[in-house]
Amino acid sequence: MRITNLNEKLQYEDVWVVAEMLLDKIHPVTYELLGAARALADYGASRVGVIVLCSKEPENPTDLFAFGADKVIIVTNPQLKGFLDETEAEIIIRLIEKYKPEIVLGAASSRGRALIPRIAVKANCGLTADCTELGIDFESGDLLQTRPAFGGNIMAIIRSPNHRPQMATVRPGVMKSITPDYSRKGEIIYEKAKLNNQAAFKRIIESITKEENAVNLTQAQIIIAGGRGVKGAEGFDLLRELAAKTGGAVGASRAAVDSGWIPYEHQIGQTGQTVQTGTYIACGISGQIQHLVGMQSSALIIAIDKNPDTPMMQMADIAVVGDLFEIIPALVREI
Ligand SMILES: Cc1cc2nc3c(=O)[nH]c(=O)nc-3n(C[C@H](O)[C@H](O)[C@H](O)COP(=O)(O)OP(=O)(O)OC[C@H]3O[C@@H](n4cnc5c(N)ncnc54)[C@H](O)[C@@H]3O)c2cc1C
Repeated sequence: MRITNLNEKLQYEDVWVVAEMLLDKIHPVTYELLGAARALADYGASRVGVIVLCSKEPENPTDLFAFGADKVIIVTNPQLKGFLDETEAEIIIRLIEKYKPEIVLGAASSRGRALIPRIAVKANCGLTADCTELGIDFESGDLLQTRPAFGGNIMAIIRSPNHRPQMATVRPGVMKSITPDYSRKGEIIYEKAKLNNQAAFKRIIESITKEENAVNLTQAQIIIAGGRGVKGAEGFDLLRELAAKTGGAVGASRAAVDSGWIPYEHQIGQTGQTVQTGTYIACGISGQIQHLVGMQSSALIIAIDKNPDTPMMQMADIAVVGDLFEIIPALVREI
């Protein structure tokens, strides 16, 4: 809602996370969002709340305290089985009106992309989608929401000084969860769902669970990623060999995906997946900003490129100058 004076602004407190639920289970991205929420709340000396909507009592809601929550608001209703964005938005809006959170974070997942903007519209506030960084402005206390703009060529910092709550979504893999502390305690609040049958224009007839994708880049500890320098689909066989030796997964730049050398599920970057892996080995990837935003938080970055001056080679912890078709087979032999 629009804020017209300081008193109104001060009524809003707490940082909320809308839990990402999948078949009544809490999805790991919720813990990543909690990590971000915890940091924001600690800065502003406020509390972290999590909204959990599910069809039955969720398993281990107290785990959310271990990952940084102070308060868990649970709404259960058999009609919340599956996902109806209109219905969930109605419930969350009522909770926002009642508790007045200052900040609301959600996942930039398929589900979050349907739900969170709907809430923002109903709450008459702004929303910054796909944030890569969140912070608090020292003077105003406003949320600073950073995201790539103009095709990733600049990073825009967006503020919402005149509306509350301030809302942002973050893609899975962008934020880090905190180390869980199972001695942390919090408050569980049960709220009733007043479901308005008119709220949903659709109903779920059947749910089909997709087989777990073989390409699980966000969970991989090592990623061997190839770009245009890999020269073709056969070049990726070389990367797969290195991945098999190291227990890693294969990623790709958009140039490689657009060339049809490897499917889109492997793409890393602004229009692909965001990863925060232990070791990222970039092979023949120049490191344009749209690629870097998807992998730059990896712990160790190794780049292999013929050109030592590319952005990827400049940012890498270890830059190996040379022909990847000589270096990778040598690495495979050595391992
Ligand atoms: C809106 C928008 C969104 C985008 N989203 C993404 C995204 O999500 N992900 C993404 O990756 N890109 C994205 N891009 C594209 C991005 O701008 C770059 O075009 C792309 O990342 C380049 O891919 P590359 O590094 O593989 O290719 P190039 O830039 O062509 O780099 C190839 C590298 O391979 C090296 N090389 C060549 N041969 C060898 C060899 N034999 N041995 C070693 N090195 C060699 C070259 O020196 C060069 O550095 C996006 C662009 C736009 C405009």
